[in-house]
Amino acid sequence: MPRYSIFSLLRNAVSYHQNWSRAWRSPQPKKAYEVVIIGGGGHGLATAYYLAKECGIANVAVLEKGWLGGGNTGRNTTIVRSNYLWDESAGLYEHAMKLWENLSRELNYNVMFSQRGLLHLAHSIHDLQEIGRRGAAIYLNGIDSEFVSPAAVKKMVPFINLNGRYPILGALLQRRGGTARHDAVAWGYARAADRLGVDIIQNCEVTGFTIEHNQVVGVETTRGRIGARKVGCVVAGHCGVLAALAGFRLPLESVPLQALVSEPIKPVLNCVVMSGSVHAYISQSDKGELVIGAGSDAYNSYSQRGSFDNIEHTVSPVLELYPIFSRLKMLRQWGGTVDVTVDRSPLISPTPVKNLWFNCGWGTGGFKATPGSGHVFAHSIARGVMHPLAEAFSINRFNSGALIDEGAAAAVAH
Ligand SMILES: Cc1cc2nc3c(=O)[nH]c(=O)nc-3n(C[C@H](O)[C@H](O)[C@H](O)COP(=O)(O)OP(=O)(O)OC[C@H]3O[C@@H](n4cnc5c(N)ncnc54)[C@H](O)[C@@H]3O)c2cc1C
Repeated sequence: MPRYSIFSLLRNAVSYHQNWSRAWRSPQPKKAYEVVIIGGGGHGLATAYYLAKECGIANVAVLEKGWLGGGNTGRNTTIVRSNYLWDESAGLYEHAMKLWENLSRELNYNVMFSQRGLLHLAHSIHDLQEIGRRGAAIYLNGIDSEFVSPAAVKKMVPFINLNGRYPILGALLQRRGGTARHDAVAWGYARAADRLGVDIIQNCEVTGFTIEHNQVVGVETTRGRIGARKVGCVVAGHCGVLAALAGFRLPLESVPLQALVSEPIKPVLNCVVMSGSVHAYISQSDKGELVIGAGSDAYNSYSQRGSFDNIEHTVSPVLELYPIFSRLKMLRQWGGTVDVTVDRSPLISPTPVKNLWFNCGWGTGGFKATPGSGHVFAHSIARGVMHPLAEAFSINRFNSGALIDEGAAAAVAH
C-alpha cells in the first residue's frame, strides 16, 4: 500500500482521484488467529496495531459488529488531555499524550491532533481547592499544568462572561491539551494495522465465547466460529454484555452520553473550555462547528441518543458562559453508550477466564487515552503479564479497595 505524501496526492490528482487504493482490506475471517480483538473502535484498532508493530504478533483479527469507529470513537467530542489527579492516571494518560504528539507521523495519517490548550474553570472556593490540589499533583508528575487568573481566562476567550450566576474565579490550564479528529484516529490505526497484516473484519458480531477448562479458545460470531489463542475485548458500552457471555460480571454501568454541534461559524474559540460545576464544555472544530457536551444521563441504557432534558441542561450553562452564541442554530445531536466505573477510571485487566482480557470502563473520557490504552493493552496481551502502567487498573482494585478516584478530574463528561 503506497504511503500518503504530497507526491501520492499529486499522482492521484492527475487521475482525478479515481485510483486511490483502499485504506484497508476486507478479508474473509480465517479459521483461527493468535489474537482476536473484539471491537473496532480506536482502542481495539490501536491494540491490534501495537501487537503487530511492537510485539511481533501480526496473526490478529479485529472483529467489529458494525463499522469501524461507529461506536464511541466516532461519537465523542475529541478532547485530549492528561491532567488527572493520581499518579497511576498521570502515568497512563501522559503515556497516551506522548504517543499523540507523534501519531500522525507514526501512522502516516493526519489525525489532526491540535494542542490548542484546555481550560478547566473554577466557579467556587471548592473548585479552586480542587484545581489547586490537582494542578500541584499533575505538576509533581512532570506534566504541564498552570493555574490562571480570571483575567488570563478572559484574554484567551475574550467573549466569555466572567460574572455569570457562577462567576469564574480561575482555571487550570493544560497548554498541551486539545483535540484530534476522531474518525481519522480509527482509520489511521486501521490502515496501519492492515499494512502489518492484521485482518479487520466488519459486520461480524461476537455472540459468544468458546471456553474449555476455564480457558478461552475462540469466539462465536455472526460469521461463524473463529478460534483464538488469546482474546482482547474492547467494546466500551457493551463490555457488560460481553462479560455476561463469558460468565462473569464487571463492576460498571452503561449509560447514554450525548453531544451536539452548532452550525459552522468563523473561528472564534481557539482553546477547549470545560466547566465541571456548571456542567458544560465546548471547543470549535476545524470546520467551524461548536462542539458541545455535558454530563451523562442518570439512568442505564444502551440507546445511542440521550434524554431531552439533558440537552437543555447542556445548552443553558453554555449560554450563561457565552451569551454571544445565543442565536446559533444547532446542527446535530447524538449519543453514545459509555461504560462508567465507580471510581471513574478504566478497567484494563485479565479476567476469571484464562487468556481473556478486557479493556473498558473508560466511560466519558477514553478517547484521549486511545494510543496509550492500545499500547499497554497490546503489551499486556502479548506478554501475558500486565504492562506496568496498566497494573493498577485491574478488576482486583474493587476487591482490594485500591480505587483510583478520578471523580473530580472527570466531573464533567469529556
Ligand atoms: C458523546 C460522547 C462524548 C465523549 N467525549 C469524549 C472526549 O471529549 N474526550 C475523551 O477522551 N473521551 C470522550 N468520550 C469517551 C470516548 O468516546 C470513549 O471512551 C472511547 O471512544 C472508547 O473507545 P473504544 O474504542 O473503547 O470504544 P468504541 O469506539 O465504542 O468501540 C467499541 C466497538 O465495539 C463494537 N462492539 C460492541 N459489541 C460488539 C460485539 N458483540 N462484537 C463485535 N463488536 C462489538 C462496537 O460496535 C464499537 O464499534 C465521549 C463519549 C461520548 C459518547
